[in-house]
Amino acid sequence: MTDRIRDYLSATPHDTATLVVDLDRVRQNYEGFARAFPDTAIYYAIKANPAPEVLSLLADLGSSFDAASVPEVEMALAAGASPDRIAYSNTIKRERDIARAWQIGVRQYAFDCEAELEKLARVAPGSRVVCRLLCDGEGAEWPLSRKFGCVPEMAKRLLARAPGMGLVPFGLQFHVGSQQTNSQMWDRALATCASLFRDLADQGVYLRMVNLGGGFPTRYLRDVPEVGRYGQSIHDALRRHFGNRLPQTVIEPGRGMVGDAGIIRSEIVLISRKSDDDPIRWVYLDIGKFGGLAETMDEAIRYPIRTDHDMDPMEPTILAGPTCDSVDVMYEKAPCDLPISLQIGETVLIESTGAYTTTYAANGFNGFAPLTCVCI
Ligand SMILES: *Cc1c(COP(=O)(O)O)cnc(C)c1O
Repeated sequence: MTDRIRDYLSATPHDTATLVVDLDRVRQNYEGFARAFPDTAIYYAIKANPAPEVLSLLADLGSSFDAASVPEVEMALAAGASPDRIAYSNTIKRERDIARAWQIGVRQYAFDCEAELEKLARVAPGSRVVCRLLCDGEGAEWPLSRKFGCVPEMAKRLLARAPGMGLVPFGLQFHVGSQQTNSQMWDRALATCASLFRDLADQGVYLRMVNLGGGFPTRYLRDVPEVGRYGQSIHDALRRHFGNRLPQTVIEPGRGMVGDAGIIRSEIVLISRKSDDDPIRWVYLDIGKFGGLAETMDEAIRYPIRTDHDMDPMEPTILAGPTCDSVDVMYEKAPCDLPISLQIGETVLIESTGAYTTTYAANGFNGFAPLTCVCI
């Protein structure tokens, strides 16, 4: 919790669950990435937190943007980024959306299969195309599995076809999985990238760029390595595999840029037990999986929880949301330790919730308003 958030919360009465984002922390995170990756362009992944204040701040600091849809492209423009600072990095795009982004001036697109490359050739002529490689997400707390990317052989074949289709074969991209706590996990993907650069150069196709994706972690319950460690490991891996002919590089941080800049203030709606001798207590908050805490799915992301009684004795507690859906339970398999003295109506702070919360909130499930975000 930053001092600015503490001051804001004490000056503002609680109404509904609210995310408060400290823009100073976003700035520090941006500067941390810029220091750790001095020769790498930063493309902020808008979906992590698209609050206009966050996007404007990052645009002013010099960030570029990773957009996944036309509305995200428009948000980046509204924040002050020119189209050359926007990459359309989603591999799954409607053809008319590609056409719209091209009209706006976006000239860099991701793809991972032939059909998508053909769409790009039809409606985004002359654009730089970047092929996404499969990456297994090992070591990530929120892995991205097999949904995105193709095998290296296919990437090679498609990138070699791009010039004949009127496109510029620009580079490769991958994502090692979100909340990746092992800074070595980029090494294997970079070995694959380097070998594709060499194989394609043998065919006269000269790639220029490697997009290292996101995955940089934020601190939840456990410490994570400093961003500098990632910068160093990735730099070492680039040297190891590309020698002194380093490609241009890009990172696309989402979680690592905004995660620890936000705190959700929520209220305890109910505390109960299922029988008189139930050993475990249920605490229901005014926010749950549908209010923005979707990343508690499978209890994957474990947010730190703070209360006004954190020095009191604790007991294991099942933490659940307020809706009438039985999956709206955040932590049950591994209950949270919370103070025995907690009372209905008291405040619970959920820390490190700056990323992937407002964007995951349902649009009024059971009449609960989507999570609001206040930037200070
Ligand atoms: C979501 C996403 C990111 C951001 O990932 P984080 O793990 O939040 O840093 C980066 N690149 C692409 C293509 C994405 O879809």
